[in-house]
Amino acid sequence: MKETSEMYLEKDQQYIWHAMGKKNSSFRPLIVEKAEGVWVEDVEQNRYIDAMSGLWCVNIGYGREELVDAASEQMKKMAYYPMSHSHVPAIELGEQLNNWLDGEYVIFFSNSGSEANEVAFKIARQFHHQKGESGRYKILSRYRSYHGNTMGALAATGQAQRKYKYEPLANGFIHTVPPDCYHCPMNEKPESCHFECAKMIDQTLTWELDETVAAVIMEPMITGGGVLIPPEGYLQEVEKICKRHGVLLIIDEVICGFGRTGEKFGFMHEGIKPDIITMAKGITSGYLPLAATAVKKEIFDAFSRSEQYEHFRHINTFGGNPAACALAIKNLELLEKEQMVQQSQKSGDYLGEEMKELYQHPNVGDIRSKGLLMGIEFVEDKLTRKPIDVACINQLITHCKEEGGVIIGKNGDTVAGFNNVLTLAPPLCIEKEELNTIISAVKKAVKEVL
Ligand code: PLP
Repeated sequence: MKETSEMYLEKDQQYIWHAMGKKNSSFRPLIVEKAEGVWVEDVEQNRYIDAMSGLWCVNIGYGREELVDAASEQMKKMAYYPMSHSHVPAIELGEQLNNWLDGEYVIFFSNSGSEANEVAFKIARQFHHQKGESGRYKILSRYRSYHGNTMGALAATGQAQRKYKYEPLANGFIHTVPPDCYHCPMNEKPESCHFECAKMIDQTLTWELDETVAAVIMEPMITGGGVLIPPEGYLQEVEKICKRHGVLLIIDEVICGFGRTGEKFGFMHEGIKPDIITMAKGITSGYLPLAATAVKKEIFDAFSRSEQYEHFRHINTFGGNPAACALAIKNLELLEKEQMVQQSQKSGDYLGEEMKELYQHPNVGDIRSKGLLMGIEFVEDKLTRKPIDVACINQLITHCKEEGGVIIGKNGDTVAGFNNVLTLAPPLCIEKEELNTIISAVKKAVKEVL
């Protein structure tokens, strides 16, 4: 086995350019061969709990044959047809997504979360254009957010390290402050919060001249940027602000969607009705690439009222691939039948409760969670709240993997100085015993590393 593993490593070094590009001889990627439930197995037959669901996406868990069968049956029947026309799995998935969204939305399919956001930006700009407000082109997002890797989605992203070597990016993207309660620059307390950070969105829209702004984009909870859970009521404030300024509200549910935070979608915790919702990852639980941009019916209608309104000039070859749609339908059906959204809530509560003990450690500053999404922020000391050195975070991750058999993640922007949050987002099907393995691994790592 060892020889096989070395052979793969050598070939990997030769042929593969890894995401995030660690191309040096000391980097030993995990070469995964099999996966089942929450477990992944590498070519040396080491087994790990994947407490990150791959890249926050395998919501249903690995190895569900029903999903594979749904895709394979669809491919045998009809493997491909473009979405400039239509096909049955896309129509059925559109209907299912509407049930999940609990509203009247029209669905545009694409291939990745980044593209779903690009589609949203283009729809927002064209929508205003067709209403006679072509001056509205800016997209406002928040620092620390991540919205994708393409030139527009990256421009919307609020993490300098991911951007500064690729600039200039797309034009017209502006940023404001995120809701970061642990470091609240306005010194607010969550119990008596006046949503000063939401008011900054209001201010920014005024300062930028709202008639130049097309949309605000945000995740319901910032995930990759450090798991920042906004104070209750924040999204409702934002919705009101957007309405007041005539700006569309785009909610990026690429990670938070499909049960991750204990609701079907993250925005549902606050009962708002976003104008546009983007989704990917959990839509197929990562089994096949698929993304969607859900657009309120009244916005769609502005594109189809009469001949004078242009159609939306965006086409892609693979968006809404029939096998991916058929698989997504089965994924949603099983998530619902097996009550995984509720399970995410229940398991998340348990995880949150058990992890509280970590607060006793001098380097654990803040623990934030919602459903099965968790971030643990490490600090040099609790008084200054200064981030702990990233080397410690890396050691914690290695310890969890090597000693505890658990793969955990981290957020990161070394340039901007926030790279001190460990992240957890296990598959929603996780059992209590498996959760306990994660909890023990993290606690042991903190005790032994720091
Ligand atoms: N939006 C959010 C919140 C994400 O976390 C990601 C990816 O991690 C994206 C968009 C981009 O999705 P994709 O990687 O599928 O392009």
